[in-house]
Amino acid sequence: MACVKEDREYVLNLYNRLPLSIDHGKGMYLYDEDGREYLDFYSGIAVNTLGHQHPRIMEAMKEQLASFTHLSNYFCAPSQVKLARLLVQNSFAGKVFFANSGTEANEAMLKLARKYGQGISEKKTRFVSLERGFHGRTFGGMSLTGNDSYKVQFGPTMEGITHIPLNDVDALKKAVDENTCGIIFEIIQGEGGLKGVSEEFMEAVKETARKFKALILVDEVQTGLMRTGKLFAHEYFDITPDAMTLAKGLGGGLPIGAMLVHERLENVLQPGDHGSTFGGNPVAAAAGSALMEVILQEDFRERVEKSSLYLLEKLNYLKEKYPLIITDIRGRGLMIGLEVGAYAERIRNDALKKNLLLNVTGKTVLRLLPALIVEEKDIDLFGEIMDDVLSAM
Ligand code: PLP
Repeated sequence: MACVKEDREYVLNLYNRLPLSIDHGKGMYLYDEDGREYLDFYSGIAVNTLGHQHPRIMEAMKEQLASFTHLSNYFCAPSQVKLARLLVQNSFAGKVFFANSGTEANEAMLKLARKYGQGISEKKTRFVSLERGFHGRTFGGMSLTGNDSYKVQFGPTMEGITHIPLNDVDALKKAVDENTCGIIFEIIQGEGGLKGVSEEFMEAVKETARKFKALILVDEVQTGLMRTGKLFAHEYFDITPDAMTLAKGLGGGLPIGAMLVHERLENVLQPGDHGSTFGGNPVAAAAGSALMEVILQEDFRERVEKSSLYLLEKLNYLKEKYPLIITDIRGRGLMIGLEVGAYAERIRNDALKKNLLLNVTGKTVLRLLPALIVEEKDIDLFGEIMDDVLSAM
């Protein structure tokens, strides 16, 4: 456990780490230094979409590493352009900006909306976002985030952001006016407990945005790239975003973020307005293109849907068997939350002892984010371990 010991000694203690020293990963599993096998339902918090060490991703990275790792954004890189093309051809967007992370992609989206607003009126600078929403840790992302626990200790945040309760149509109508430049939200709140936007709320977003010329800005950093069973979670609704952010799974495990922008806004940001030294790293972009090619195969979507239904079946069985522990099942596709109240931490710790890795969010919710390659046998194992853990409570 040299890693755990030295981690405590040399790395800032910010993450409440698990006491594991991982040696390697393969597919759905992680292996520690002693060769113990863990079923991984974190998938790097929705980053390792195709599991660990997926051959197509590894191959794409190696191929790119053999030619160059970084050029600077004064040059176009074929792998970056390919990823942009795949994103544009499969979304509402006309163009893409690449960043390195989710929060940076959201910063870009804030700047896009602000500059768009400035083109209409000097006062059009305000944002509306959702309580319990999460948009990152930079000052802009943190300011948009609708949970004080992430920000109270850091002094003044960005001005001009109104947070409203999820799915509160009246609050939305009150909050949006001609000075609103953007309405920003997640389709399912990943950090905030896996609650999703309603059809009625989406219709109201569309209507108010149209009325007041506010942009619809969707943060799909966690929900994007087939996590919810569609390529992008907003496709469950009749809505066209003005801009959308992605990150997490986009680089097949390497850091990359993206802002996708609708054609009618693609000239708002001009050369020099925004940028990033590392944004759209060629190796991450090559891995991202490989990932896109895999998840865009027709049978992949079907596979995610099948796994999701199978997992839900298991979860419903567990909920019926342990109704006092599991009180709600939320989410879509392979982004699922189990409301387990004060049991959350204990379940996570007991599952770890039985070699199942589970993530807790919002203190009371078990967040299940298995890699999208999860198979029935993995879900069976998950079900067995959960049954064991819950029956001991
Ligand atoms: N937006 C959402 C919806 C997220 O879930 C996250 C991270 O969890 C972020 C933004 C921030 O992404 P990053 O940690 O890559 O900056």
